[in-house]
Amino acid sequence: MTQNYYQKEIETMQREDMRKLQSEKLVKQVKHVYENVPYYRNLMDEKGVKPEDIKGIDDLHKLPFLSKADLRDAYPYGLLATPLADCVKIHSTSGTTGRRVVAFYTQKDVDLWEDCCARAITAAGGTNEDVCQVAYGYGLFTGGAGLNGGSHKVGCLTLPMSSGNTDRQIQFMMDLQASILCCTPSYAAYIGETLKEQGYKPEDIPLKAGIFGAEPWTEEMRQGIEATLGIKAYDIYGLTETTGPGVAFECSEQSGMHINEDHFYAEIIDPDTGEVLPEGSKGELVFTSLDKEAFPLLRYRTRDICMLSRKKCSCGRTLIKMAKPMGRTDDMLIIRGVNVFPSQIEAVLLKEGYEPNYQIIVDRVNNTDTFEVKVEMTSDRFTDKVRDILAMEKALAAAMKTMLGINPTIHLVAPKSITRSEGKAVRVIDKRKLV
Ligand code: ADP
Ligand code: ZN
Repeated sequence: MTQNYYQKEIETMQREDMRKLQSEKLVKQVKHVYENVPYYRNLMDEKGVKPEDIKGIDDLHKLPFLSKADLRDAYPYGLLATPLADCVKIHSTSGTTGRRVVAFYTQKDVDLWEDCCARAITAAGGTNEDVCQVAYGYGLFTGGAGLNGGSHKVGCLTLPMSSGNTDRQIQFMMDLQASILCCTPSYAAYIGETLKEQGYKPEDIPLKAGIFGAEPWTEEMRQGIEATLGIKAYDIYGLTETTGPGVAFECSEQSGMHINEDHFYAEIIDPDTGEVLPEGSKGELVFTSLDKEAFPLLRYRTRDICMLSRKKCSCGRTLIKMAKPMGRTDDMLIIRGVNVFPSQIEAVLLKEGYEPNYQIIVDRVNNTDTFEVKVEMTSDRFTDKVRDILAMEKALAAAMKTMLGINPTIHLVAPKSITRSEGKAVRVIDKRKLV
């Protein structure tokens, strides 16, 4: 298979050359931030680090971290590094964890970001012959804008659908013969389910590839979406704080995402001690924007739990790869003292033949955590016989116990009774936080 790259020289650059490029950019960036962002200058002064101390990537560990709390403290303009006159737009986080962050972009920042998304679309097989349906939300959320811009750069015919209105999505997909779909994986699953209900078989669907991200999804969910839509499904990662989707993207190998490390330098740290961990270790992902102008975060702690790898990739790209994030430090539930990630529950469901339509409800009754998982029955296994339902619930609870180490109460509910998501899915209702 011939490989296409959007910016071949960067995407296949030799390791030493990349490090040199990163070092040069970092030195400039630290100076830019120190001179223009009093908030970060104070953090550096407190740590006793001067811009002259940073001579390259090897010195990165000397810089202080930035956290989501810093972004909140500095809201809205405290981390802006350019005059407002140079900024052309903002985006804002979707507020999954309840706190919004506003990020600023100069025109050059927008250009670099769109290049990153163009690399992702190209790696998924996209060319100017493609019709690219962008069903991520448009507006403050970064998903729509990022993929829209990337799609223009590649030269695809872009369908700026935004999320929602699934019947219209399907009508445009069919009428205009869309070949690439970009949206959250939960929305892709929903579109797939709706197509199936309307009687479409995978071979009737014009799509060849999907670029799905903005939320965690499992390997099993990928297989489900690929089968229903008859496509290859590629992961894409990003966050508003660093720019949006396109920080990292999957290639034909579909085993981890290449980080656009000429723009975003990644580190893995121990979330408790802040110590930088060696390649291959699991820990918290930290990003440094090497060349963003308006909102350049240095050593930003993402709270995403992840691993990095420099293993050679069959696509020919030399960009470092990150594994699928395994969840966030702040979406990890601690139930009766055990660490539980929604992604583990999803993996069990798919393995046991259920759809990824579920909700986790955690509460505290008489000082003990209760742990309930609501799961939809699939239409082919639907039954209203109480005895059969109880047996299915018991079997699923046992499978969960094996994976998680603790026993949830399973409640099987009727197909389609859990609200579908057109953006990021809401999987967890933790009532303990309300007290
Ligand atoms: P919010 O923090 O409000 O969700 P964003 O919309 O910027 O704000 O979302 C960024 C976060 O979404 C990332 O930090 C990560 O937790 C999650 N995310 C984005 N892409 C992926 C992906 N491909 N896989 C897993 N998680 C992802
Ligand atoms: Zn690759």
